[in-house]
Amino acid sequence: MDFQKLNSLKGFMPQHEGEALSKWAEEFSALGPALEIGTFGGKSSLYIAMGTSKSGQVVFTLDHHSGSEEHQTGEEYFDPDIYDKSLGRVNTVPLMQSNLNCFKESKFVVPIIVDANLLAPIWTIELGLLFIDGSHTEISAQNDYTNWSNKIFPGGALVIHDIYEDPDKGGQAPFLIYQRALEEGFSLHERVDTIVCLIKS
Ligand code: MG
Repeated sequence: MDFQKLNSLKGFMPQHEGEALSKWAEEFSALGPALEIGTFGGKSSLYIAMGTSKSGQVVFTLDHHSGSEEHQTGEEYFDPDIYDKSLGRVNTVPLMQSNLNCFKESKFVVPIIVDANLLAPIWTIELGLLFIDGSHTEISAQNDYTNWSNKIFPGGALVIHDIYEDPDKGGQAPFLIYQRALEEGFSLHERVDTIVCLIKS
């Protein structure tokens, strides 16, 4: 397992949090497959696959691949490398493909180009682990929680990234769904910096 090489990929998952994600993916893949909302370049998909692959389990990863709010032209995380001039928009599919191509664990990654809200009503596969790391607007984070957290097996894991109690340090949407999950019967399993793993009762 080459975390050093994985950490060098473009993306928004620091190594210590990625390694925690990988460990939880290994632990909870005994129950069923993992599903990630918010692929971007596939970096965290690979961290998850490093864990699930140990039990031969896959990770589904959902993204519309046109970038989140902060990746758009003129925004804080705009990156010309992921802007497709011919499409006239951000397109993170090529970045994902080149990242996945570097790791043999990518055969356990199942990318789906979709709006997660559209797929949820017809999704019937129960999950060992759900990772919410899509758009961080409050409406999107709440939708992802509402639509997908009911698809986790009892005893399975809900992982949420970018938890900031202090609004000066980061957006509040992930923190709000974390609080909501605690109120709705999830319990905290482990936290590493800004990433939390909760267990469904
Ligand atoms: Mg994130």
